Amino acid sequence: MADQYDLVVIGSGPGGYVCAIKAAQLGLKTAVIEKRATFGGTCLNIGCIPSKALLYASEVLSEADHKLKTLGIDVGTAKLNLPQMMAHKDETVKSNVEGVAFLFKKNKIDTFHGEGRILGAGEVEVTADDGAVQTVAAKNIVVATGSDVAGIPGVDIEFDEKIIVSSTGALELEKVPAHMVVVGGGVIGLELGSVWSRLGAKVTVIEYMDKILGGMDGDVSKQFQRMLSKQGLQMKLSSKVTGVESTDKGAKVTYEPVAGGDAVSIDADVVLVATGRRPYTDSLGLESIGVKLDRIGRVEVDGHFQTNIDGVYAIGDVIAGPMLAHKAEDEGMAVAEILAGQAGHVNYDVIPSVVYTAPEVASVGKTEEELKEAGIEYKAGKFPFSANGRARAMLATDGFVKVLADKKTDRVLGVHIVGHSAGDMIHEAAVLMEFGGSSEDLGRTCHAHPTLSEAVREAALATFAKPIHM
Ligand code: FAD
Ligand code: NAD
Repeated sequence: MADQYDLVVIGSGPGGYVCAIKAAQLGLKTAVIEKRATFGGTCLNIGCIPSKALLYASEVLSEADHKLKTLGIDVGTAKLNLPQMMAHKDETVKSNVEGVAFLFKKNKIDTFHGEGRILGAGEVEVTADDGAVQTVAAKNIVVATGSDVAGIPGVDIEFDEKIIVSSTGALELEKVPAHMVVVGGGVIGLELGSVWSRLGAKVTVIEYMDKILGGMDGDVSKQFQRMLSKQGLQMKLSSKVTGVESTDKGAKVTYEPVAGGDAVSIDADVVLVATGRRPYTDSLGLESIGVKLDRIGRVEVDGHFQTNIDGVYAIGDVIAGPMLAHKAEDEGMAVAEILAGQAGHVNYDVIPSVVYTAPEVASVGKTEEELKEAGIEYKAGKFPFSANGRARAMLATDGFVKVLADKKTDRVLGVHIVGHSAGDMIHEAAVLMEFGGSSEDLGRTCHAHPTLSEAVREAALATFAKPIHM
């Protein structure tokens, strides 16, 4: 048996690798077990990073077609070189996963390649690809095994990752499909649907709910849907997919109106099924040691990320909460601090969420619908990018900022942005909310001119006074 560790982390995604680095920085003897050939988990290998490489590249192609002429730049007709675009994506992934390996070495973190299985508190068995088995002893174990594709409950879908694909296959297509049907108008469906639409595919999104991006603020979802429709994505809302099958020519998707009615079938060259992800705990041995899971298979933890078994903790996609890389990272840091005797904590009220389309969608805190449902009296201030000087200069006038503040205390409760760089702008709202700031604090803070962020200030001004530029 190897030396005893203070901490063994199972899984090297954003939750696991950040947890391990933080623990090592705090002086804990730390090891990581990872079954994938490279570190970084879903996010770096088949999620956040490769999707953003393709989103960026396809956005540049689309801008070359739609914006450059107006800006006075004549480059002729832009042409797609898909193998090179994929090479850019692969290179981006490579440099990121190698970066994690470098950080593990730098922080003297031991690594074990293989599948981890918890034998009991303090003991993890690792089975390597070649079948070799070893046991690793640890005072504490953090489960950071993430999530996997959920599919559609009750619908038998055979993912071949070429014609019927999950997000993983949609990041690897060798040619642009003539018609891509996307099942699910959530984050993955809209991000990857946008990529293939910009690269030339006809894209049809079939969504169960009566709106896209279900959890987002209603105004945002409505306006964003109009924008995507203008970009060419076709939306079939309030439609439940009941079948996805391969055919001689490609695939067939069957759906029916949620309100009831006849089923309809639609042909596709590629079907992307993006109907959510499930917590991944396969082969971990949790049941045999008695770790409690909730009704949908997530590992149950207390406020300190500890399971019902002493010394076994869990973080990231495998526990409750939004399946986001930065949420997993924050939990990783917090649990490492707790294990080192410090006061680790995650503020779940202030976790930003970003959809990296063009324009981007970003949000933090409560939506207007959530405030109404909770019976909280609020004021709303809104400001469009069409009235922002910098946005005009950048041909980025689509979208708006909305600030929601408590009617009595003026404390900011939610900020929602649709627009260019929304994902970067959202952080001034997050910092403000972390410090319990008011919309007057935001509206009275000097913002550099000309910046897109001035729209955030103007929306704040609109909650208690009047915006200047409208
Ligand atoms: P994961 O990243 O899933 O890592 C878990 C790791 O554990 C994996 O490497 C797995 O191989 C390993 N593992 C599992 N079981 C074992 C075992 N028994 N033994 C050893 N190793 C094991 N989130 C964002 O915030 N922003 C984005 O832009 C974004 N884009 C996304 C795009 C796509 C296409 C997808 C699919 C997801 C995206 N996400 C994004 C979500 C994000 O990837 C996840 O929230 C994040 O990866 C969760 O981190 P994690 O550490 O909990 O788990
Ligand atoms: P999602 O939950 O965001 O969206 C799934 C959509 O599929 C929902 O709108 C749902 O109503 C719909 N749906 C479910 N069953 C259906 C059916 N039978 N017919 C039609 N529609 C159906 O899930 P996702 O897009 O797969 O993403 C999974 C997770 O990955 C999310 O939790 C997200 O947080 C994370 N992610 C985040 C980012 C980001 O932060 N930018 C990017 C990609 C993924």
